[in-house]
Amino acid sequence: MRKRAKAVAGALDGAGVDALLCLHGEGLPRPNVRYLSGFTGSSAALLIACGHRLLITDGRYREQAAAECPDWEVEILPPGGADAAAIGECCRSRGFARVGYEPQGITAGKLDELRDAGGAAFVPAGGLVEARRRRKGLDEIAAIEAAAGIVDAALEATAGLARAGVSERDLALELDVQMRRRGAEEPAFSTIVAAGPRSAIPHALPSERRLAAGDLVCIDCGAVVDGYRSDLTRVWVMGEPDAEQRRVHAAVLRAHDRALALVRPGAGGDDLNGAAREELAAAGIDGWWRHGIGHGVGLAIHEAPSLRAGTGAELAAGDVVTIEPGAYRSGWGGVRIEDLVLVTEAGARTLSAAPTALRVIG
Ligand code: ZN
Ligand code: ZN
Repeated sequence: MRKRAKAVAGALDGAGVDALLCLHGEGLPRPNVRYLSGFTGSSAALLIACGHRLLITDGRYREQAAAECPDWEVEILPPGGADAAAIGECCRSRGFARVGYEPQGITAGKLDELRDAGGAAFVPAGGLVEARRRRKGLDEIAAIEAAAGIVDAALEATAGLARAGVSERDLALELDVQMRRRGAEEPAFSTIVAAGPRSAIPHALPSERRLAAGDLVCIDCGAVVDGYRSDLTRVWVMGEPDAEQRRVHAAVLRAHDRALALVRPGAGGDDLNGAAREELAAAGIDGWWRHGIGHGVGLAIHEAPSLRAGTGAELAAGDVVTIEPGAYRSGWGGVRIEDLVLVTEAGARTLSAAPTALRVIG
């Protein structure tokens, strides 16, 4: 943790600021605070500069901040105290004249408050922490791998309960319970279970729809371990799949495998998207794909690098990204196969172990 803050402090000169302000609050949760300080409370501000690591929070977190951030100077706001005024005062008293804020981590209202409170000139300085979060360390990889393992086991345990008459909501709830029983702090995002024609909705919220013979069932879920997330999608089918279900699933799986085989440092997101699209096009279903091939995963479920087509992103060793081609047709259903992989010099190391085959249930 100390090294992370030190590395950010070392980049401040290049960004033209004396200090960096990272905010984290209920309206705008930001993993950068946890990444840099280890603080897991729901409200805090960090001020980082050479020789300074200051965490500002309120009395609810006095003990927690002391325990989680032993290397940090902790400033506890008085009850009813305004954090903008306290931040301004901290900047003034430490001689920080130009303070960088993270444009993605601040509301327009909060920026106004800071500027009104004074104490320093607040200027945008985004991406300093995100750039470092991309390259995952061994402890981070271990946490993500543990979260992926929990999902593999939870999915296996839940498959036995999937039968005609069980609702999407019941299956999603069971998955969440199974993940928590196996040590997940919480689900990494709202678990998706979408059956029949609803599987054509890539981010469907589970409904009261009950599983029926012939349904495709698309399940997308993740677990959280030590703050780190996993992300996995598999498709089940209620009873023997028909020819079209088999054909579409096989094409998406070929697209998944092609993209996965290209994963290595220096590979472009566009190359991965292009290869997957070729496989879908060969099956005549490239028009059914509605999203990018993947995204980075870590403390946030969507983080750098974004592998949407056209971003120009290049993979680097230490990235943890998803590979998740999909094909969706309104009224028919959808198939997405998503794996979580670590980018290594030798290529992709898949962190999830659940088989990618179309699984027959019911
Ligand atoms: Zn997912
Ligand atoms: Zn995903």
